[in-house]
Amino acid sequence: MQCPYCGGERLKVLDTADSRESIRRRRECLTCGARFTTYERAVAVTPVLIKADGTREAFDREKLKRGIWYACAKRPIPAAAIEQLATNVERYLQSLGQAEVSSRIVGDKVISELKDLDPIAYVRYAIVYLKLDNLHSVRAEIDKLLAEQESPSIAVVDSQPADLPLVALDQ
Ligand SMILES: [Zn+2]
Repeated sequence: MQCPYCGGERLKVLDTADSRESIRRRRECLTCGARFTTYERAVAVTPVLIKADGTREAFDREKLKRGIWYACAKRPIPAAAIEQLATNVERYLQSLGQAEVSSRIVGDKVISELKDLDPIAYVRYAIVYLKLDNLHSVRAEIDKLLAEQESPSIAVVDSQPADLPLVALDQ
């Protein structure tokens, strides 16, 4: 950090105050003697999404929720759970700390969350997202899901984000 008056970089912190949303510091420039205040805030930045064709798109929470709603149609899933799922996805993207990420990361996260939420919604989403375009690939996905439900240890390993879908989409 530089002194806003002389550009000097030798600064002394005189005092620090921590409030809920920011940390305020009173500083003194050791070059020119000016005193000034700095504020430090946590900023959550949602990365821009890079689509498969290379174009960029801003993260759109409403669009994400629409996709989840379709998958969850007529399932006993409370609206709050869908809201929470969208929040989980958004926070996950922010936690990556990058300016841009592949849009696949969003789908991978949604699908891993849906897997825990509701098996039918998961399969519906998987059909669209993993482009399961024939009955065999749909059945293979359902068989895998059933196998995981019968063997919890595998389910834990597979619930890591971006596991199964990345493999399927790389084909
Ligand atoms: Zn200065």
